[in-house]
Amino acid sequence: MRAKTISRRQTLQAFTKHVRLLLLTIPVTSCVNSCLHSSFVQAATERPKGEDMNQDSAPGTLDPYRLPRHVVPLRYDLRLEPDLTAARFAGEETITLTVLHPTSEIVLNAIELDITSAQITGESGPARQATIALDASLQRCHLTFATPLSPGVWRLTMTFCGTLNDKLRGFYRSTYKDERGTIHNMAATQFEATDARRAFPCWDEPDFKAVFATTLVIDPALTAVSNSTIASETHAGGKKVVRFADTMKMSTYLVAFIVGRIEPTEPVMIGKTPLRLWSVPGKGHLARFGQDIAAASLSFFERYYGIPYPGDKLDLLAIPDFASGAMENLGAITYRETALLVDRQSATHGELERVADVVAHENAHMWFGDLVTMSWWNGLWLNEAFATFMEMLAVDAWKPEWKRWDSFGISRAAAFSVDGLRSTRPIEYPVQAPKDADAMFDVLTYEKGASVLRMLEQHIGPTVFRDGVRDYLRVHAYGNADTNDLWISLGKIAKQPVPELMDGWIFQPGYPLITAEINQSGRLVLSQQRFTYLPNPSPITHHPSPVTWQIPLQMRVTAGGKTNTSRILLTEKDTTVPLPHDWESVLINEGGHGFYRVRYAPDLLDRLLNAGIDRLVATERFNVINDAWATTVAGLMPLTDYLDLTARFTAERDKNVWAVLLDSFSFLNRIITVEDRPALEAFIRGRVGPSVTELGWVPRSGESEGTKQLRGELIGAQGKLGNDSAIQDRAAELYRAYRNDATAVDPNVVPSIVAILAHTGDATRYDKFNERFRTATTPQEERRYLFSLAAFQPKALLERTLARTISGEIRTQDAPFLVSAILGNVYGRELAWTFVKTNWEKMDQLFPKQGLRRMCGGIVSLATPELERDVRDFFTTRKIDLGGKTLDQILEQLQIAVTVRERDSRALRMYLDRYR
Ligand SMILES: [Zn+2]
Repeated sequence: MRAKTISRRQTLQAFTKHVRLLLLTIPVTSCVNSCLHSSFVQAATERPKGEDMNQDSAPGTLDPYRLPRHVVPLRYDLRLEPDLTAARFAGEETITLTVLHPTSEIVLNAIELDITSAQITGESGPARQATIALDASLQRCHLTFATPLSPGVWRLTMTFCGTLNDKLRGFYRSTYKDERGTIHNMAATQFEATDARRAFPCWDEPDFKAVFATTLVIDPALTAVSNSTIASETHAGGKKVVRFADTMKMSTYLVAFIVGRIEPTEPVMIGKTPLRLWSVPGKGHLARFGQDIAAASLSFFERYYGIPYPGDKLDLLAIPDFASGAMENLGAITYRETALLVDRQSATHGELERVADVVAHENAHMWFGDLVTMSWWNGLWLNEAFATFMEMLAVDAWKPEWKRWDSFGISRAAAFSVDGLRSTRPIEYPVQAPKDADAMFDVLTYEKGASVLRMLEQHIGPTVFRDGVRDYLRVHAYGNADTNDLWISLGKIAKQPVPELMDGWIFQPGYPLITAEINQSGRLVLSQQRFTYLPNPSPITHHPSPVTWQIPLQMRVTAGGKTNTSRILLTEKDTTVPLPHDWESVLINEGGHGFYRVRYAPDLLDRLLNAGIDRLVATERFNVINDAWATTVAGLMPLTDYLDLTARFTAERDKNVWAVLLDSFSFLNRIITVEDRPALEAFIRGRVGPSVTELGWVPRSGESEGTKQLRGELIGAQGKLGNDSAIQDRAAELYRAYRNDATAVDPNVVPSIVAILAHTGDATRYDKFNERFRTATTPQEERRYLFSLAAFQPKALLERTLARTISGEIRTQDAPFLVSAILGNVYGRELAWTFVKTNWEKMDQLFPKQGLRRMCGGIVSLATPELERDVRDFFTTRKIDLGGKTLDQILEQLQIAVTVRERDSRALRMYLDRYR
């Protein structure tokens, strides 16, 4: 699945800044039990795959979260008849299964289904009826038979019906308006992690792989898509009966059905695979870009993995209501519209990059996730970190000029930020209840996971790494695997002890801060300790301290005008490294691939910067400023030193480096008092202004995509954070020109202009932007104007936006993000917080769970001691659980912001005096 990370895809669009996954701004979900040692995790997660667990279902012996293993499904013949108008569906299924030892009970998963009959037939003898009992709390269905079933193959037939819900999970209903304004319904599925059981009774665990043969009975005017090609299409009883070919053996969470008035593109053939994109009518012209990257990444992965695409066709479908970013159903990948459909001409670079990333990510899953699947949800990172890593490789191969590994720094920074919390968790941890798996779709699983894989790839070499991955996929194809299986394959090819190296990164929470200093004998001392923003790791962390990591460290020493790179594996707390007598400067984390922060002693930092910051590559400059900001927030570097340091970057032209700078300015804007804000704005104008002036408003010929993007982002920052009136006036002029002729302004500048105009806008402009949201012609334009409604300053206008988030007027896939955006707007945050408190029940009932979690992420902007107390009181009194450690992480991030405010306000005020 692709988490809905608006943020890391479209970094720095000014009006979405507060929802970005960068630095301290975004809290993300997490989970329970973060504090187990690697050995324990191994033991706890190595669950038996065979029949040696839960052998019988005798009361009291049953694992509440894992089905008994004495009955194993082989094949589902599934027939579903959705009624889109009544929002109901009827179903019938025959599951071919193996009974491994005599039993009179079969237990499988089902929830919110009305199961009307269940009977079983063996190789001989009459059909035997089952007594059906549903256990809603465990989401299970117990079928009991009068006499035991003997070992062998049986066919279990069940009939059932259910509701096409509006919660964007299971089998659900999505709606959209056509060009005439008529509302249409469609039906779609979202089963990961554990919602296939809402559509049909099944063994809803990833290692119960089976073949699926689906038949959809639909209105003849509609179209149906599922995981495989259509085997036959017939008509009966006024209905169209669409029978799909057998799938490969796969997990239930990858099954998909989509029914509606949807239209495909012409297929393109990638090897033997026909590839198509689907959308609701009228949007097919937005499919071209997505189809290009889908085709390019599919062939890239066939080459990289050395295994052909495992399905018989590949459809990518844009669904108008979709909770996450996308879902890797085999052969029928579903997307939210902004992640698949885009107009190449009018989109920003960030918007195009997001489509490319998500499409490549999902395609990567066809192997990593679909062909080889984690045995249980504790191994989710295997799927997601890998798909995130592979998405980078594929996009980088497709468009090397995008420098995708440079902008991956933003993703790594997002992981650093959450993983620097005391309430973080290891990448992998034991998962028992299904709800714990839901909380795993976070920045630690995706971004930290991908970061440590990148570090490993760089350490053992890209070719060795690829060959290890190939080995892993070949050995486990059509089956399931655990983290250790991957290490075995990689270790075998690399001829290195990969588990010893990687276990600390996967099974320990947090990451190291490396302090670099020169000792009295002139040697370089590198010491590692866990980095946290707040001191004194929480007492709930049972980890022995100090924790160490095996750190593949790459450093560059300049001496006598020459540079020399060395690689060291740091395994101890302190490591001493000799330096040449004439050393000039030392850079730790050369290339920037390491998942650790560096804190240079002041003299080392001075030497590094004085040697010329332009001698560092972009990712190295990124790390220097990003680590400096993190250590500042943690209280390890004076804020005034950091503010001085930012002056060295006024000539910076890398958009990712600027992302860090602007994010730190946003953070200061959230903690500053109203009286001091004008001085902060003047400071920001001083830092950003020279680059804005130099870059101008119009791209120059031959300019890189990154520079175009940077221009837009800096203009947005200068107009909003810098509150620069000249920029605001120019933005208004250019907006008029853009409205007359959409090509009059570079697409990368348009979102910033819209954001600046919202920032300075009144009710008349609000109404206009609202109208543009409703009549937008691309998903990106729609989103841009929708989020602009959160960026106004007048409270009355923000109140209108808030009211609409729960009135049914704004899709529930977007509404919680809009609330989060207003929480992040310093002019609306208190208003939004009051609104959240007042309407909590309604939001809880209305919004998808992951949306609600992300909405709460906006709370980190309520950075005053009074608001922090109120926030804590609210969540404690209501006993709200956001799943996993989500709430703890949000509250800790808020605490960090308030701590910086309390600690550094005085120094900040004095520093800003020169800007008054
Ligand atoms: Zn994914």
